[in-house]
Amino acid sequence: MSEPTATALPVTEPLPVPAPAKLVDVASLSREKLALFLSEQLGERPFRAAQLYRWLHQRGATSFDEMTDLSKALREKLKVQAEIVPLVKDLEQRSVDGTIKYRFKTREGRYIEAVYMPSEDRKTLCVSTQVGCAMACSFCMTGTLGLKRNLTAGEIVAQVHAVNREVRRNENLETFRPLTNLVFMGMGEPLHNFENLKTALAILQSEEGPNFSHRHITVSTVGLVPMIERFGQETDVKLAISLNASTDEQRSQTMPVNRKWNIAALLDACRKFPLRQGRRITFEYVLLKGFNDSDADAHRLKELLRDIPAKVNLIPYNENPGLGFQTTGEERAEEFRAILAEAHVAAYIRKNRGRDIAGACGQLANRDETAAEAPT
Ligand code: SAH
Repeated sequence: MSEPTATALPVTEPLPVPAPAKLVDVASLSREKLALFLSEQLGERPFRAAQLYRWLHQRGATSFDEMTDLSKALREKLKVQAEIVPLVKDLEQRSVDGTIKYRFKTREGRYIEAVYMPSEDRKTLCVSTQVGCAMACSFCMTGTLGLKRNLTAGEIVAQVHAVNREVRRNENLETFRPLTNLVFMGMGEPLHNFENLKTALAILQSEEGPNFSHRHITVSTVGLVPMIERFGQETDVKLAISLNASTDEQRSQTMPVNRKWNIAALLDACRKFPLRQGRRITFEYVLLKGFNDSDADAHRLKELLRDIPAKVNLIPYNENPGLGFQTTGEERAEEFRAILAEAHVAAYIRKNRGRDIAGACGQLANRDETAAEAPT
């Protein structure tokens, strides 16, 4: 019997290496799941969960060390089993109109953006839900990236905490939550990341957390029809639909999702959507010069929305180099709006914010590789 040689060892199957203990991402847990984690995994009493939750979501703590009213022993225990996944502000760009675009770096080095829009009566944050986007709308810059990954609930909420912190400091405010409104209109398709969106909403709306009212949160979707139904059943916040066309031919040309769920299917889902008293669905309509901004388009749009409690936001197109669409002129936009208004469809021309910093609708796209130093 000869000794086995090294070459006889199986080389294709590496020796099993014990997987490192997975730390629990506590900021992504709902209030209930956090309580379970503390009681079942750490053997802690229920009120500890309330304390930890408040640190995470009322104060927006980014480390266990700052949670000074938790015992040192508990903080050490948390550090062994749990983590607060960082989302680090890495760039900010200020527009002449007061808009500030924040870029955040995820732990693995990807970038997402959130846009702060202050006005006289509100302070709104536009939040991202994915790194990149799978929907591939041809006029949208984020759509050119493709989907990199979903954001976790913790990362969605962390954008809000981080910008609250910034606003508090920049504007010298005492209030722990200066932001008043949230719109899920940043990078990504929120309903394509529904579970994490739902958890994030529950956290953002919780009394022990940031305590946003359902009236002050809007989620915008490209039109994932089956998810609109679930969204209506499982959340109570406002819905916005990116319609952007008055015929299926047009819409399928720019929004691939329309080939799966066409305008009729989409509007059907809207008709079935459970609306709270007095609430309307917002329809976003990006005006693309010579493409969807004719009188005939306005008339068709008005017909489409005839039996839906609707409000239309007309969005002047923010041009992106290379995408080949142009902005509709102000006068044309106003004529378009007037046709809707005559038919009693409430329509507003949305102000463009943050264009000079590429922070406006459809301009959010920081490619990981280039990580542009300067705005483009
Ligand atoms: N994916 C979701 C959330 C993003 S919202 C959705 O599609 O609704 C972003 C909004 O900006 C959408 O209404 C989209 O139609 C609009 N948009 C995209 N690119 C734009 C651009 N270049 N100029 C103006 N609006 C744009």
